[in-house]
Amino acid sequence: MRATIPPDVQTTCPYCGVGCGVIATVADHGAVTVKGDPEHPANFGRLCSKGSALAETIDLEGRVLFPEIGGRQAEWDEALDLVAGKFSQAITDHGPDSVAFYVSGQLLTEDYYVANKLMKGFIGSANIDTNSRLCMSSSVAGHRRAFGSDTVPGTYEDIELADLVVLTGSNLAWCHPVIYQRLAAAKAARPSMKIVVIDPRRTMTCDIADLHLAVRPDGDVALFMGLLAHLAAGPAIDRTYIGTHTQGFAETLAAASALSLADLTERTGLPAMELREFFRLFETTEKVVTCYSQGVNQSSSGTDKVNAIINCHLATGRIGRPGMGPFSLTGQPNAMGGREVGGLANMLAAHMALENAGDRERVQRFWASPAIADKPGLKAVDMFHAVADGRVKALWIMATNPVVSMPDADAVEAAIRACPFVVVSDVLKDTDTTRHAHVLLPSLGWGEKDGTVTNSERRISRQRQFLAAPGEARPDWWQMAEIGRRMGFAGFDYRSQADIFAEHAALSAFENGGSRDFDIGAHAGIDRKDYDALAPFQWPRPAGSSSDRTRFFADGGFYHMDRKARFIAVQPPVSDHTNEKYPLTLNTGRIRDHWHTLTRTGKSARLSGHIAEPFAEIHPRDAMELGIRGAGLVELESPHGKAVVRALVTERQARGNVFVPMHWNEQFASRARIDALVPPVTDPHSGQPASKNVAVAIRPFKAG
Ligand code: SF4
Repeated sequence: MRATIPPDVQTTCPYCGVGCGVIATVADHGAVTVKGDPEHPANFGRLCSKGSALAETIDLEGRVLFPEIGGRQAEWDEALDLVAGKFSQAITDHGPDSVAFYVSGQLLTEDYYVANKLMKGFIGSANIDTNSRLCMSSSVAGHRRAFGSDTVPGTYEDIELADLVVLTGSNLAWCHPVIYQRLAAAKAARPSMKIVVIDPRRTMTCDIADLHLAVRPDGDVALFMGLLAHLAAGPAIDRTYIGTHTQGFAETLAAASALSLADLTERTGLPAMELREFFRLFETTEKVVTCYSQGVNQSSSGTDKVNAIINCHLATGRIGRPGMGPFSLTGQPNAMGGREVGGLANMLAAHMALENAGDRERVQRFWASPAIADKPGLKAVDMFHAVADGRVKALWIMATNPVVSMPDADAVEAAIRACPFVVVSDVLKDTDTTRHAHVLLPSLGWGEKDGTVTNSERRISRQRQFLAAPGEARPDWWQMAEIGRRMGFAGFDYRSQADIFAEHAALSAFENGGSRDFDIGAHAGIDRKDYDALAPFQWPRPAGSSSDRTRFFADGGFYHMDRKARFIAVQPPVSDHTNEKYPLTLNTGRIRDHWHTLTRTGKSARLSGHIAEPFAEIHPRDAMELGIRGAGLVELESPHGKAVVRALVTERQARGNVFVPMHWNEQFASRARIDALVPPVTDPHSGQPASKNVAVAIRPFKAG
């Protein structure tokens, strides 16, 4: 039995970006039960299957409980001195860009803050990137292009208030289940509400859809260009709004109008009748919310997709008002919190910009730091390329498993294996990534750590501790602060996560006037003494404010210097990458009951019972032509790798396409790491990998 803290604790689910509130109850004998927090505004008591099974995933089996050096148990002092020494030596010998941190949307905001401060403000490099790069960086880039800031305009309530909800690149039912539950309940209460699902597959989300558009992979840029041209020719266009609050409409419309109906049907793969029906619904419905997720973001044209969607909302002025707006659904529990403290290689902190000299000077002065990074660092895919070619000599990976989840995963594994010095901070001792660590540091897991996370609607909630730390596990922020101190830097003497949040809040208010007024004192209203009892709130919460700002842009003011939003003229991408050797298109994704690389949900027999093994969904006609039988093993191959999974022959899948979930790793199913097939191709604006449109071959598997 583990020593515990109080009996009932309000905390937050550590899985998806919905950010549901959870009440964890610890019985006298130490058993933990969880239920949805009825007071939390994200879920009002609901939980999905993953959240409900949280108590089944918190045992100590497989945990790393002590620091390890080369596989042997070590003291913290020895391990930390070694890490600090190796990083300092690499910087002395090869410069600050020879070291890198690869972190995670699983980290708490306080962890992210310290990692970003250490790398950008003291080491003097911006080589810190995160697995959130794989999740939502195209949305960040799209927001910044359109709004001048990375700001989500709306709130979950808007999805319930809308008369039309468009879900594009989002299997909401499985990937954001509690938002799906809220949407389904809203539609049941108001049957006039319409739902359109845009997805190459007929997913479970389609069960509540009025219209399913089985768009071609990456055909959605053309789809929203066509929608813009249609809107411009009808009554829904808001020319007053466009003239007053935006720039770039004429060029954007010209690009969109260049596509004929024949172009649209060809590029989207959709019949003209379906296109017209979608355009009519959007045109005639004032309250429209367009939700998008990984099917939009994980693309070589992801940022253009985001802007093609936002263009349609700007053209109709449907943004910032109840029941209207584009809505990016983040994948991870703290993808948003990482963005707030600059946890991406091209951001600074407190929503300040790395490329802005004034912002750099302000942050450097606040941190009293010796050397602030002055150029963007390596984004995820480029970071592992730099590891592979020897530019990065020392790498610290925190709370993530890139050997399974990165594109071109075999090459990533080879790079990590060859890196001169690799530190991994994790909760598990044996993952596909930890086995390559020179130093393995034991971190705290959910229920043990304490801090804040931010969900998809900008709502900051507390994750709270209700279990004692096992063995010698320590918070990630503590590990980084210790390394900062041992590298000789001042400013890392934090006693608790509350100290770190207080510093983060103070930075958000630090002499931050001028043009970037949207984030003045973004968290300055959170007093140090409020931290422990902090109730969920939506930022910003400047000093003197006590209420949430639920929506941005209601006044038509954006965050470009001229306060106007930007239309972005986009072009439809080349979407068909197939050829004679690799004639099908692979789309990777998630299933309902597993999370990321199974390191936690794989512990629950109940969750594993939903879908027990990896599979490839394939259309019956494709299966017949390829000699594939349902439930038979198939081998998938791309120029980058191979995987073996079980065939699931289903008409839910469009012809010419294959879907395989991304979760399985070598511990749970050998040769099923599907990201080994994904090429390291990225969006040029965001650096986000394209995991949804990969040319592959598929054939019956023959052993030997
Ligand atoms: Fe957790 Fe997401 Fe499920 Fe909510 S919807 S319980 S945050 S996994």
